[in-house]
Amino acid sequence: MAYQSDFDRPMVQGNWTCADCGGTITQLKFDPRPGSTVYCPDCYKKNRSQRDGNRGGFGNDRGPKPKIQGNWTCSMCGVAVTELPFNPKDPSTVKCFDCYKQSRGR
Ligand SMILES: [Zn+2]
Ligand SMILES: [Zn+2]
Repeated sequence: MAYQSDFDRPMVQGNWTCADCGGTITQLKFDPRPGSTVYCPDCYKKNRSQRDGNRGGFGNDRGPKPKIQGNWTCSMCGVAVTELPFNPKDPSTVKCFDCYKQSRGR
């Protein structure tokens, strides 16, 4: 059972009833568990777009994080750090973005 890609994924044939419009569904992209709620593609799309509309986005409604302004020194390379995405608990461990990337990296 190794799918090569989403495009090659075979549709599941069956006989379900759409929980929304009551229409007959004969094909699905996945195999629903018995008794689970199934929607036809139209209702599925409708429900999705409604939910997305309510959320005002794709689950990403927090917006950009505010940067904290300050005057720190990178504990690794000694460069001045004036902006951080968080408030450091211990100013002596502050790292500039480059050193932060390096220390996490690979
Ligand atoms: Zn439907
Ligand atoms: Zn640095």
